[in-house]
Amino acid sequence: MSHIIAIANPKGGVGKTTTAVNLAASLAISNRKVLLIDCDPNATLTLSLGIDSESVAGGVYELYAGSFNHTKIIHPCHLNRLKIMPSNIADSERESRLMALAKNRAGFKRNLDSWLHREKLDFDYIIVDSQPILNDLTMSVLYAADSVLIPLQCSFYALRVVERFIKSIKRIQEGVNRKLIISGVLLTFFEKNTRVSRRTKTEAELIFPGMVLDVSIPKNTTLNLASFEKKPVALLDITAPGAEAYLALAQNIIRSSRKRNY
Ligand code: ATP
Ligand code: MG
Repeated sequence: MSHIIAIANPKGGVGKTTTAVNLAASLAISNRKVLLIDCDPNATLTLSLGIDSESVAGGVYELYAGSFNHTKIIHPCHLNRLKIMPSNIADSERESRLMALAKNRAGFKRNLDSWLHREKLDFDYIIVDSQPILNDLTMSVLYAADSVLIPLQCSFYALRVVERFIKSIKRIQEGVNRKLIISGVLLTFFEKNTRVSRRTKTEAELIFPGMVLDVSIPKNTTLNLASFEKKPVALLDITAPGAEAYLALAQNIIRSSRKRNY
């Protein structure tokens, strides 16, 4: 059974896409079979891995529409064990149709299961990137996920948004998705020598007891550069602090999978 990890935070620019790409690649480098799904119509993840979201044949749209019988909806992506289901929303009309499909919030999970079954595919992890808003599309991902990883950019405002987001997650856990767990709050853009980063960590540990991961992601320009090069950071410079941090995060996720037996 594939373990589905949603990367989510309703605040923009906190490192969701960077985390999805680099966690997925780090898990693949650690010999796990991984599928990356780009559930953001802006297609940042898709583009940052060198796939043209406007011309790619199949992807997330066909998954939501359930029209994957004759279309290839996943594509190779840099590493043998890594595949991507791109965001392929070329215009606003198609985006509106996608949003209408996502109103059926259970549809994403149902179609994903039936597609995996039909293709006889089994991934160790399915990592899903989401939009910076808690709309039907993001909710459909949270309805399907086994766990949610929340990147938290080191700043005061980001703390408040995550506090509200965790309340919404609790409602989902008590209702439609009882298996959903919070795999952790991941500090991003961390600068160990600044008071803002240290203060964010201290406050996050108080507000979200037991949820803040030991691994944090440093502010590192090589992570930014890797998206220009259209590859995961580990394939650009495996010694970069950002690459090392995401490899450590992958080990952390693998260890908790073993503990929870999935
Ligand atoms: P959105 O909410 O718009 O989807 P996001 O949460 O997915 O944004 P990213 O796109 O991953 O955020 O990151 C925003 C920008 O910051 C990107 O240019 C990315 O390359 C850069 N970035 C992300 N993480 C880091 C980091 N740890 N150090 C330096 N730059 C980073
Ligand atoms: Mg993003």
